[in-house]
Parts: sequence; C-alpha cells; structure tokens
Amino acid sequence: MAEVFVVATGANKLTYEMLTLARGLGEVSAVVLGAPGTAASIADNLAEYGAAKIYAAEDEALDKYLVAPKADALAALVTAKSPAAVLVPSTQEGKEIAGRVAVALDNGVLTDVTGLEADGTATQEIFAGATVVKSKVAKGIPLVTVKPNSVTPEPAPATATIEAVEVSVADSSKLVTVEETVVEPKGDRPDLTEANIVVSGGRGVGSAEQFSVIEEFADLLGAAVGASRAATDSGFYPHKFQVGQTGTTVSPQLYVAAGISGAIQHRAGMQTSKTIVAVNKDEGAPIFEIADYGVVGDLFTVLPQAGEEIRKR
Ligand code: FAD
Repeated sequence: MAEVFVVATGANKLTYEMLTLARGLGEVSAVVLGAPGTAASIADNLAEYGAAKIYAAEDEALDKYLVAPKADALAALVTAKSPAAVLVPSTQEGKEIAGRVAVALDNGVLTDVTGLEADGTATQEIFAGATVVKSKVAKGIPLVTVKPNSVTPEPAPATATIEAVEVSVADSSKLVTVEETVVEPKGDRPDLTEANIVVSGGRGVGSAEQFSVIEEFADLLGAAVGASRAATDSGFYPHKFQVGQTGTTVSPQLYVAAGISGAIQHRAGMQTSKTIVAVNKDEGAPIFEIADYGVVGDLFTVLPQAGEEIRKR
C-alpha cells in the first residue's frame, strides 16, 4: 500500500482532518517538523487518527517560525521515501512550506483542497465556494494543502512507530535568524477554527465598544468570537477574527451571525456550520436564506434577551 505523508503540526483538529483524509489514499505516515521531543509528545494523538508511522524530523532550528529549514527537512524526507502524496495544512506557514518543497523538487502543488479521492483527484472550491474544481497534480509527487474544516475527523486507532529522521538544515536557514518571538496571550475563549460554537458580529454591531454584546453572548455559550470583514475593516474587531473567503473558514456545530447581511464572501467561511442562527433587523437579509433559525430584530435586544433565558437554565 502506498505511503501518504501528513505534515502534523500538533494534536489539533486540522491534523486529525488531514489524517482522516489521507487514509483514503494509502498508509498514513505523519511527519513532525519541530523541536526535539515534539513527535513523542503527540504520538498517541496521531496514532488515534490512523498514523502507523511517525517521522520525527527534529532539530532546534525547526522550533522557530522559520519556514526554510522545515521545507528543507520535508523535501529531503520526500526525496528519500517517495510517498504517494504529501498533505500539508493550508495555513500561512503550511502553504509556504508546500510552495518551497514544490519548487525544490519540481513537483506540482494544489492549495486549499477540501477533498481528495483515492486516485489523487483533489477538490477545490473557488469564487467563494460558487465553483467547484477537480484537479490532479500532473508532475512529481503531489503536494496538497488541506483547508481547515473540510473534513470531519474520524479516529481509526493504529499503533505508531516513531522513526527519527536526520535533519540537515540547509544554508537557507542561515539567511534569516529569529531575534524575538512574541506569542499573544490566548485568552479563555476557544480557538476560532476549532470552536464548537462561534458567535460573529457584523457591521450592524456599530462600533468596537458595542462588540462587547457579541463577546458577552459568546462567553455565555463558551463560544469563539468571529466577525465579518465589514466589522474588521471598520476596526470593530481584530482582523484575525474575520470569518469568510479572505478570513478563517469555520464549521462549528452552532454559528450565530448577528448584524451580518450574509454576503457570499462571508458565507464562504461559515456555510458548512451544522446549525446557523441569524439575528438581523432586515427580514430581507440574505443570511436568512441559509439560516436554520432566524430572528428578525435588533441584536442589542435579541442577544441580551436570549442571554437571560440561557442564564436561567
Ligand atoms: P453589511 O453587509 O453592511 O450588513 C450589516 C447587516 O447588519 C445588515 O444586514 C443590517 O440589516 C444588519 N443590522 C444593522 N444594525 C443591526 C442591528 N442593530 N441588529 C441586527 N441587525 C442589524 N466579508 C466577510 O465577512 N468575510 C470575508 O472573508 C470577506 N472577503 C471578501 C473578499 C472580497 C474579494 C470581497 C470583494 C469582499 C469580501 N468580504 C468579506 C466583504 C463582503 O462582500 C461584505 O461586504 C461583508 O461580508 C459585509 O459585512 P456585514 O454583513 O457585516 O455588513
């Protein structure tokens, strides 16, 4: 059975999604590119989702946000093992790694893939999900970046062995050095891409100060906070919380859209949510076309009232 590589960034949902997807293509091997000890710390999690082998490409140089050494290490491993395909997270870092490896090995690369068939045919959704493209890498070992929240992670417990891989960090890593890394405090709210519930606010929220009504409702539900692009562009909420075509794609159990009209670019990032609740004072707002439950009303009345009811339970 062909070996398929999954670049595992940790014990997280996207890694589990990729492991689930890769199982349809062959025998799954996870590739961990990190500091010494990283692979051992997440081995059980990777095995739970079907990784039979874990390549531990570990070096202090791979611990930092420096893409070149990770790409060098992955390219060397792909050359040595010739897997049938390599799945990489469709994150900023993952896409850069995939691009660099593709150039180094003269391979084809497909980005933002949402599905993969056994023969390597990949699905990509373009124009905000309005067009579905099926494509295949025609040259070399296919490199595929997988879009978050495209697949439902399903466990398939395996027994994993860890194989240490020699990492020769090439000269490219010496071109840039990291002087300082500032990690923003994570806060108590769940991560936007992994949250079971997301409460998002749009332009209708009106101001940064008034976004507290969204935050309060989210905290009541243990939810992550999201925002439309109009809200982030207006400075109501930081850009990193933008949901949509040019923001984050989410697929929670429950998505609450408050003061969001439902433009196609916003829908592209949330329309696969299991249950969608919309609060909008315009009954003709397009968000109601995809909402499972719609409330026509002022969000500043509806959310606090709903909050009161939830508190009573
Ligand atoms: P609006 O469209 O202005 O809607 C505000 C809504 O709030 C209205 O429906 C109004 O009835 C309602 N409202 C007002 N006051 C209240 C109140 N008190 N109570 C209840 N409802 C109220 N957008 C994204 O979100 N994400 C993206 O990733 C994204 N990418 C884009 C990429 C491109 C290339 C382009 C061209 C656009 C992109 N957009 C994106 C922008 C998108 O087209 C819309 O402009 C944006 O989603 C609108 O945001 P909104 O719904 O918050 O604002």
